Amino acid sequence: MAGKFELDDVVTNGAAKNGNGNGHSALSHAGAAPTLHDANVQEIYAELLKRIGEDPTRDGLKQTPKRMEKSMAFLTKGYEQSVAEVLHDALFDVDYDEMVMVRDIEFYSLCEHHLLPFFGKAHIAYVPNGKVVGLSKLPRIVEVFARRLQVQERLTQQIAEAIEEAIAPQGVGVVIEAQHLCMMMRGVEKQSSATVTSSLRGVFKTQLQTRNEFLSLVRAER
Ligand SMILES: [Zn+2]
Repeated sequence: MAGKFELDDVVTNGAAKNGNGNGHSALSHAGAAPTLHDANVQEIYAELLKRIGEDPTRDGLKQTPKRMEKSMAFLTKGYEQSVAEVLHDALFDVDYDEMVMVRDIEFYSLCEHHLLPFFGKAHIAYVPNGKVVGLSKLPRIVEVFARRLQVQERLTQQIAEAIEEAIAPQGVGVVIEAQHLCMMMRGVEKQSSATVTSSLRGVFKTQLQTRNEFLSLVRAER
């Protein structure tokens, strides 16, 4: 069958390490054919390298499955984090009711359609309603959601929602400008074009003046 996972070669060529030392942990169910479930992450990456026409045993690739496992764990570590954790000691009561803004927050994410990077800048602003978030925490909130498989639209909304939930401000605005390697590398789009998404809530939606102030700050010269 065309798509069947053939693990034997991967396991015996030494690309994958395993506990029992015989090189056949993936075949531990006596007599049963190996399935994807039996394979560890590095074995799966080694098999993937084979499927695209590579030799995972050659020098340059020997450590690649191990590196891929590590880097994928890092790039998706947001699944193990939560906004509540990030903000636990960083909410403060204030009297201030002008706009708070942090712009040019650099982020890197992976598009969920191609697992290729998209990256750029997030701009976040809110008008408090008795509470503020420690300023250094806004980039951390971006990180929690960017380090997952994403689409830019959802990333934008999740950041805005998280701030809404945390401090119930009068309003929140998030703008993200990003470049998508899945479009650039595949020639779908011109190299320099950026995709812009926004989420405007509360007074950022209802008050023209607040919205304009935010958007002009986003566009202002650096
Ligand atoms: Zn994509």
